[in-house]
Amino acid sequence: MNLPESVRVLVVGAGFAGIAAASRILDEDPGADVVIIERAGDVGGTWRDNTYPGCACDVPTSLYSFSFAPSPDWTHTFARQPEIYRYLRGVVDKSGLRDRIVTDCELTGATWDGVRSVWNVETSKGSVTADVVVAATGALSTPKFPQVPGVEKFAGTMFHSATWNHDHDLTGERVAVIGTGASAVQFVPEIADRTARLTVFQRTPAWVVPRLDRTLGRIEKALYRRFPASQKAVRGVIYGYREAYVTALAHHPKVLPLVTNVAKVHLRRQVKNPAKRAALMPDFMLGCKRMLLSNDWLKTLDRDDVDLVASGLTEITENSVIDADGNAHQVDTIIFATGFTPTEPPVSHALVGTDGRTLAEHWAGSPNAFKGTTVHGFPNLFLMYGPNTNLGHSSIVYMLESQANYVVSALAQLEERRLASVEVTEHAQRQYNSWIHDSLDGTVWNTGGCSSWYLDSEGKNPVMWPTYTFRFRNSTRTFDMSQYTGVPAKEGQQV
Ligand code: NAP
Repeated sequence: MNLPESVRVLVVGAGFAGIAAASRILDEDPGADVVIIERAGDVGGTWRDNTYPGCACDVPTSLYSFSFAPSPDWTHTFARQPEIYRYLRGVVDKSGLRDRIVTDCELTGATWDGVRSVWNVETSKGSVTADVVVAATGALSTPKFPQVPGVEKFAGTMFHSATWNHDHDLTGERVAVIGTGASAVQFVPEIADRTARLTVFQRTPAWVVPRLDRTLGRIEKALYRRFPASQKAVRGVIYGYREAYVTALAHHPKVLPLVTNVAKVHLRRQVKNPAKRAALMPDFMLGCKRMLLSNDWLKTLDRDDVDLVASGLTEITENSVIDADGNAHQVDTIIFATGFTPTEPPVSHALVGTDGRTLAEHWAGSPNAFKGTTVHGFPNLFLMYGPNTNLGHSSIVYMLESQANYVVSALAQLEERRLASVEVTEHAQRQYNSWIHDSLDGTVWNTGGCSSWYLDSEGKNPVMWPTYTFRFRNSTRTFDMSQYTGVPAKEGQQV
């Protein structure tokens, strides 16, 4: 569709978050005036962009899918990227959302107009005014490249795992992989047979446990198709046991050594080389960094044609990567598996609030919001996957659906109370964040002895949800107007 001049609700981003928000709004009111703008040419977000070999979800698919759009067609308990991408496209097509999406349309700026109570939004396809903006731009959308001295001199091929260069053949090449996080563990085993020599640069080893993956057979799929309640029941069971993890991660980290033993046995079984095994043993509590799930990562690192460099890297030259011990590793290609910039989302630089400052300026490197969704000084703005909504144990899709409920409830309140705008009070936001940070004290993410992207430069944790996800679901069920100020709509103003 073309970009309209004005819209009631503008959703920015057509990944899991944007699809969840728009679907819930339309489910409640099929006639709602909702438009999604998407910077790329298709929906899917991170599951459209990340196409590296072996890309899959490390959360069970029965949970990592929409509750309102179950699919009996998944082939594995941990779905692969092409299937998840296909699933999202299917949801959009079946729900009719496709007609409400403006593709290749990037938000470049959005300023709150307090006189008219609208957002003046600038995009790569022109301007649009929106009564309400839902920023569903994702946390893992901007690849992070480390500032390694000399990187600009490298004469070979370089790319990031999130923007995989499929035109480049790695066969017979000497390849360096920088980073050993959730992405690297998935693609390194896939490329190791092709490369002549693979050198993996590790800064911090991670705890790795087996991925209990299996294919879903014909009978199981038929059961889910015929009796959807059976799939719902499986989802419920998986949800329940995943929630149990939080008891250990957030409330009783002392029991974590029990799970750590599983990871230690996995490491002992898969890595025979004593030097590599020692280098791969983390020195922090399991869960402090994202626990990795893989059946072949450690085994691959144990191969003789795979080098593990645990001293880190200091420089890149025309044809090599120099490690911290001064050794030069000659390579043809460098693959950065160095993650994303979740605490500095580009959208935060584009949104300008009531005092003329951007959201990034408000946050000053330490994002915070009320219920991860609304921010004082930014009326009628709703963030999806906002601060302190990330999880280490369960599915972010559950959190996104909770936030979508909150948006739906807010829209209903605006209408019922004939309000032009709502804005969370500074007091409510401050109190909520002091609860968040008190709750995070003592969790494994804050005190587990590692440095991770969960912590900002001040050591604060603006990323993780500190407790059970059902508590977030309960707190976002109804829009709590008592924590907001509202501006009444003018005579004749549509709400
Ligand atoms: P990541 O987990 O943030 O890992 C980045 C890796 O790069 C880490 O090993 C990090 O080392 C290393 N690194 C970063 N900067 C470096 C530098 N300057 N020099 C050397 N090494 C450096 O990134 P990711 O693997 O892309 O995953 C990001 C997130 O995406 C995950 O946490 C997860 O939430 C999500 N993800 C999910 C799935 C899924 O299946 N659901 C799959 C892939 C990714 P340090 O550990 O020392 O920082």
